[in-house]
Amino acid sequence: MNKRGIEVLKDSRLSKSTAFTKEEKVTLGLRGLLPYAISSQDRQKLRVIENIRRKDSNIEKYIFLSALQDRNERLFYRTVIDYIQEILPIIYTPTVGEVCQQFSHIYRIDKGFYITPEDKGDIAELLDNWPQKDVRVIVVTDGSRILGLGDLGCNGIGIPIGKLSLYTAGGGIRPEYCLPIMLDMGTDNEKLLDEIFYLGYPHKRLQGNEYDEIVEEFVMAVQEKYPKALIQFEDFITPNAYKILEKYMEKVLCFNDDIQGTAAVALAGIYTSLRIKNEAFKDQKIMFLGAGSAATGIADLLVKAFMTDGLTEEESLKKLWFIDINGLLVKDSPNLMSHNLPYAHECPNMPFLEAIREIKPTILVGASGAAGAFTQEVIETMCEINAMPVVFALSNPTSKSECTAEQAYTWSQGNIIFASGSPFEPVTIGQKTFVPGQGNNVYIFPGIGLGAIAVEAKYLPDSVFLIAASELARQIHQSDLDQGTLYPKLTNLRTISFEIAVAVANHLCEIGLAQAEKPKNMRTHIKDIMYDPSY
Ligand code: NAD
Repeated sequence: MNKRGIEVLKDSRLSKSTAFTKEEKVTLGLRGLLPYAISSQDRQKLRVIENIRRKDSNIEKYIFLSALQDRNERLFYRTVIDYIQEILPIIYTPTVGEVCQQFSHIYRIDKGFYITPEDKGDIAELLDNWPQKDVRVIVVTDGSRILGLGDLGCNGIGIPIGKLSLYTAGGGIRPEYCLPIMLDMGTDNEKLLDEIFYLGYPHKRLQGNEYDEIVEEFVMAVQEKYPKALIQFEDFITPNAYKILEKYMEKVLCFNDDIQGTAAVALAGIYTSLRIKNEAFKDQKIMFLGAGSAATGIADLLVKAFMTDGLTEEESLKKLWFIDINGLLVKDSPNLMSHNLPYAHECPNMPFLEAIREIKPTILVGASGAAGAFTQEVIETMCEINAMPVVFALSNPTSKSECTAEQAYTWSQGNIIFASGSPFEPVTIGQKTFVPGQGNNVYIFPGIGLGAIAVEAKYLPDSVFLIAASELARQIHQSDLDQGTLYPKLTNLRTISFEIAVAVANHLCEIGLAQAEKPKNMRTHIKDIMYDPSY
């Protein structure tokens, strides 16, 4: 039965609020329920922006936007799309980190789906409670490593919610296709366990086989209920992130954004930095600070990229070096994890600065969560050994960045190619203003998701991430490069995602991993399936 009256206004997908026309007010039984004036969506959007700007804390802005999403979904997406540059830091990093930390205090209407150890054996049945039967993208976390903030337990649900909003705003994936999931396996964060407002499963984290069995049941339940859905694994601690990815990456349609999404966005940044330096990719030597999932994910994709440029695997591995908390990763380093082994070279251990001097990397990538680890001496040393070093400080949120943009440009006297994980303001050195690029995964995952669902991909091999990185690098204009910016403007996000989706979908068809028939015109097909929030 079609909804009428107040039920229409209460339905966030139907409501247009003050934009209902005079005729609609009559036919939908809305007369008297709304003020007289009729606003266009554009006018409503300006009202939203005015309200956001009036709030002085980012978390209040987040709460306001989240409430708008619950009231009028199309207006929410219209505003996010048209003001993406301003809104992205509110609905995603850095504000989303703060939101997760305060989740149990600011909890309002729910947008997520929660699975706990008590649901073992019933997960498929539980999924029946989700109102949508055709889900195409799931973002799932277990909250064990949220951004660089550690174990936030069930409070980590803010991440899948935020990422899925970006799938819709940036990649045009219909909001009803999106499902944010918290695999709430408990938490080892004592502070949360002691907190009276904590909303999660109030026990220590499930470990070992018990944990693996729930993940397996969850993945299989998704195959049964939503066989076309892409599962994006997000913010799992590194050993579990790798274990899950290795187990499922060629079995089901899934990827890990921290590993593979980050890798593609970093590779795109490296490709563009080399356009500025006019150097060949195969001549680069890359050092990472932090040997966790982000850094090794990048390195794994770099190996594939070097090999496409004609290097052998052995030659490629020799170009990649890692520093972790105990110094350089070498054959004798204790407790090496399996994802680190290929990069543990035959070499004496040494501390970070000495390793830079000894190994002479051309590119330095920070993915350690160690705030301030790129000291003045580190930046100056990179400048001594390179005419124009490339430095990426990828750690999030802003407070965890290895150095700020201002520090990088000041300490190098503007002689550096810099990008960060969190946003930084432009920096002026002498006559020149540098606009630091943000190596944000949002440039990659919505496009990959859109491409994958456009052709109903079977699974996503590494080549998909290489294609996405090259396509992203192609989207950068000379005017961006002139300001030292390695990534395109976020205002072009939908076009970027569209182009990545077309490239990914065509590639999936070529390599036989598309389950849907190849459309006659891929561009038209993808354009047609993209969500448009206009009324
Ligand atoms: P992780 O926990 O898997 O890895 C971090 C690694 O850094 C660990 O191996 C740890 O031992 C090491 N480390 C910590 N302090 C160190 C120090 N002082 N010196 C050297 N090594 C140190 O985490 P991750 O998933 O790899 O993420 C790392 C960071 O990268 C996080 O802050 C995350 O937010 C950020 N990240 C950014 C992007 C992006 O910008 N696109 C994407 C993914 C992750």
